[in-house]
Amino acid sequence: MASPLLVNVVELTRRQGTLKDIQLIVPASVFAFDDARIADTDQIDVDLHLESVSGGIVVNGTVAGKWATACRRCLRELHLVATAEVDELYQQVVDNPDAYPMTGEQLDLTGMARETLLLAMADAPLCRPDCPGLCPQCGADLTTAPCGCQAQRTDERWAILDQLRGELD
Ligand SMILES: [Zn+2]
Ligand SMILES: [Zn+2]
Repeated sequence: MASPLLVNVVELTRRQGTLKDIQLIVPASVFAFDDARIADTDQIDVDLHLESVSGGIVVNGTVAGKWATACRRCLRELHLVATAEVDELYQQVVDNPDAYPMTGEQLDLTGMARETLLLAMADAPLCRPDCPGLCPQCGADLTTAPCGCQAQRTDERWAILDQLRGELD
């Protein structure tokens, strides 16, 4: 089955400045992500604007999809929406090293949308900017409750000072 993101651009290539909007909700399975963070049963929101320019077609807009990941500090499971900004060029005759090739009179947006969305998921997120993470000593989740390790360390330091004082006397 052809991807719904295989777009006919005959009209766009005919005249510079011609616009076309692509607004689709595409099953994630179309992209064959093969990535445990994205469920194949989910939907990907594609909102792209095509404009015919000299030497190609500019594609910009957003591609968005849900993903599941974990906070990089406390490992809490997170369900987020990644929104990838698209700003790409497609060319019939590729002379720009960053451009995607056109397939005859068609643009295949599938691979580009897939790559861009995966890039938007590259950074391991935090559940909140000030997530305190896990205690390095006992592994307790410090968001839920303080574990007491910190207080204990302070007590130990005082104990050493008391001992030194005792020795000096
Ligand atoms: Zn966290
Ligand atoms: Zn602890």
